[in-house]
Amino acid sequence: MNDHTHNSPYKIAIIGAGPSGFYVVDSLLKLNIPLEIFMFEKLPTPYGLLRGGVAPDHFKMKNLESYFEKIAFKSQSFHFIGNCEIGKDIEISTIRSYVDATFITTGANFSRNLNIPGENLKNSHTAASFVAWYNGHPDFVNESFDLSGHSAVIIGQGNVALDIARILAKTPEELSNSEIPEPILNQLKKSKIKTIHIVGRRGPAQSKFTPNEFNEFSELKNAKVIVNPTDLTIEKNVIEYLTNSNNKKNLKNIELLKKCSLTSNEEIPPQTKTINIHFHLSPLEFNGPEDISSIEFSVNKMTGPANDRRAVLTSKKETIPTDIVFRSIGYLGSKIESIPFDDKKGIIPNVLGRVINNQGEIEKGMYVAGWIKRGPSGVIGSNKRCASESVTAFSEDINKLEGPKNIGLKAFINSTIKQKVSFNDWKKLDSHEKLEGSKKGKPREKFISVQNMLKFLEII
Ligand SMILES: Cc1cc2nc3c(=O)[nH]c(=O)nc-3n(C[C@H](O)[C@H](O)[C@H](O)COP(=O)(O)OP(=O)(O)OC[C@H]3O[C@@H](n4cnc5c(N)ncnc54)[C@H](O)[C@@H]3O)c2cc1C
Repeated sequence: MNDHTHNSPYKIAIIGAGPSGFYVVDSLLKLNIPLEIFMFEKLPTPYGLLRGGVAPDHFKMKNLESYFEKIAFKSQSFHFIGNCEIGKDIEISTIRSYVDATFITTGANFSRNLNIPGENLKNSHTAASFVAWYNGHPDFVNESFDLSGHSAVIIGQGNVALDIARILAKTPEELSNSEIPEPILNQLKKSKIKTIHIVGRRGPAQSKFTPNEFNEFSELKNAKVIVNPTDLTIEKNVIEYLTNSNNKKNLKNIELLKKCSLTSNEEIPPQTKTINIHFHLSPLEFNGPEDISSIEFSVNKMTGPANDRRAVLTSKKETIPTDIVFRSIGYLGSKIESIPFDDKKGIIPNVLGRVINNQGEIEKGMYVAGWIKRGPSGVIGSNKRCASESVTAFSEDINKLEGPKNIGLKAFINSTIKQKVSFNDWKKLDSHEKLEGSKKGKPREKFISVQNMLKFLEII
């Protein structure tokens, strides 16, 4: 039975301190009910993919951290428990026994697979690992990426693919003022990659990237974009459909691509890097023998009505030689033990944020928000509405919740998680990173090892 009629605060657990976790906190605080919120994060640092995914040269976006920080400081009853992985350091069932409601906001941090031969050859990497590496994510900083060859292929044409291409195309000077940690920056500076291919299976009219992201290529000091003009022949009915459906994004993409198609290989000075955009190609096989040497693609034809154009494989083939490949075909969430999970979609099954268990019933007191709720789509701001929807579900259920079985979550955490990092601890790390960064003209010089973070905080 729920015993909150007499003002004792509702105890809430949030698993994952990414943007969605903070948007959940913000929405909960707007309910104006007594609350005690415990946010668990596996890393000592908050902000999820905002810190570990968003490109290190996207300064404006990275500044969103201060917005989330304000949310954390809004309430005395908000507790951040960093360096605590749920499912490893504490079981989810234990957490649930201490709280009225649990919100899972663990995001989607793994790359989808292509499931084609040769995918796991040496020098074939997921976008997720490369992005996490250059962002200094402690779990990925020891990965190695051989950038000594001349050619790189990126499979996929979303904004993440464009981020990777831009980081590879920038000069050492252009990279120097970004958030890329020094040891990683030193490796990127030695990169010999000169020819970058970004390959998509559909056409420009269906392109996933956004015009703003594409436009950033035009600001690069030593790189030029090349698009094959024949790829830009788009059927009249498709253009009409984009116009009538007010699809400004794709119309703008086509306009920008057309400008680049005027550049040909011959006009480009020999030292200039090239970013080659290829459409209508689906990878069939990565060729070795050991290290990747080339990728064989099917040349696709587009079929179907203007509002649902699909890429269909043909017998025509094309091969692109390469020294390294990054597979950027979307992210997937990962399962936490004993929480329902849809392996195919990589999300926690839910209805409007209420978790659905394996029997198809609503799991009382368990909610989900962000990428682990709806999959990896949208910008950071999209998680705000998503979180608000889940908090609304909680507020509608509030009188039906069973209430905690145990009391004393704070004491339990203190006795169980010996190396926990509080929000004030994080602020110490944050200030130190910013101070070290300012000495080098960078926004921050990140800690890249959990051990070093804990040592700095004198937790170990
Ligand atoms: C490469 C890349 C670039 C992007 N660039 C942009 C951009 O420029 N602009 C933009 O608007 N959006 C961008 N996005 C999208 C944006 O990052 C996401 O919308 C957002 O981060 C999703 O938030 P989330 O909280 O759902 O997940 P995440 O940000 O992934 O946060 C989940 C958090 O949960 C933690 N966690 C996971 N499992 C556990 C566990 N078991 N116990 C405790 N903690 C756990 C993780 O460590 C992480 O901190 C980008 C995404 C990627 C992948």
